[in-house]
Amino acid sequence: MQYWKKLTAAEQDHRITHALEQNINYSQGFSLGVPASTLDDKVFYDKAPFLKDAPLLRTYVHNPNHIGCHTLGESEPFFRGTQEIEREVIELLSVDMLCAPEQHCDGYITAGGTEANMQAVWVYRNYFQQEFKESAESIAIIASEDTHYSLAKASNVFGVELFPVKVDVESRKLIIADVEKVIKNALKKGKRYFIVIANMATTMFGSVDDTSVYTSVLEKLSLPFKLHVDGAFGGFIYPVSEPGSNLTFANSQVSSITLDAHKMLQAPYGTGVFLIRKGLMPYVYTEEAQYVNGMDITLSGSRSGANAIAVWMILQTYGYYGWQEKIETLLKRTDWCCKALDERSIRYYRHPKMNIIAICAADIEKAVAEKYFLVPDTHHGSPNWYKIVVMDHVGMEQLKDFVSQLKSPISN
Ligand SMILES: *Cc1c(COP(=O)(O)O)cnc(C)c1O
Repeated sequence: MQYWKKLTAAEQDHRITHALEQNINYSQGFSLGVPASTLDDKVFYDKAPFLKDAPLLRTYVHNPNHIGCHTLGESEPFFRGTQEIEREVIELLSVDMLCAPEQHCDGYITAGGTEANMQAVWVYRNYFQQEFKESAESIAIIASEDTHYSLAKASNVFGVELFPVKVDVESRKLIIADVEKVIKNALKKGKRYFIVIANMATTMFGSVDDTSVYTSVLEKLSLPFKLHVDGAFGGFIYPVSEPGSNLTFANSQVSSITLDAHKMLQAPYGTGVFLIRKGLMPYVYTEEAQYVNGMDITLSGSRSGANAIAVWMILQTYGYYGWQEKIETLLKRTDWCCKALDERSIRYYRHPKMNIIAICAADIEKAVAEKYFLVPDTHHGSPNWYKIVVMDHVGMEQLKDFVSQLKSPISN
């Protein structure tokens, strides 16, 4: 591990205190021009004694604005201390989690996986438009039918048509013949450039796409494409449980990756992560953003710097090996639950390196599924699947209790 070490709470506090000291101090000197200040001190009392032991809460009170992207070009100097910590997070995740060479990626903390996926589509749409002098009508997004709906949102916002690819009902794997069919259909509709979204674990199943299923077809037809990996759910699990997959920057065809620290990492909401190889972010440069120092190349404008600090603290508290142990524990519990389902002949889908179990709705009583708040694949009509996500709070007690309520379906 290059960067991902364990730091004690005191070491973290020291680092964050130092970073906050390098940011603007509104109470000292003269800060007349920035439309920003600390949190309102009539409401958020900044002398509360517990703040001295809580560097994240101190950061919230200081309220740094991390507007823009801090891995390239200039940035607002007022918040340079905490921006440096955000840069560390981006570099740590790119290199130590996702196998990029050092200083190879740009990135920023987004509002969530949705924004990071939209940022990817925005960059690649502009890339094809600028490099090939083409309109959005000639560009297609291709992604499996199990892909998160944020890609449908991106398709709508950026005016790039989405072409879903079918997956096998049982294995949830991409159907190669359908990839070919979908691409040929897109060509017929005048699409010539492809934005491919590969899932590093889908939201409903935890299934993982093999990128080569897409790229082999696109290469055979000599079609230009950009490949984005949606790791919003699996990005903090799969690279650890399955090192050497083709869904990291070790695969030269992967240009960008979405992660979501507010899912498996249990960070506060507002901690998506967008990572992209250098050279691509400038395609979304907004020239009109004159009042911001540096390049405004992110979908969100102002955003809280405290979010980057929260992600950094979680990563530094565990260290790589601590995180690996946590993932192993979650996978063991998932294994145990799957075995209990097998013993009862209850059908389900589970990727062996992921912590999601999608149970066949026909094989579980609705009342049991609802009692344990299993999530259905649809809220309209009758569901086909109910999923369990084995998070930190889903312990053996809870799983045993759940399993004790299960009956073997007679239909089997
Ligand atoms: C949750 C999720 C998203 C969207 O993330 P938000 O943080 O809710 O915006 C996108 N893709 C996948 C695979 C997800 O699991």
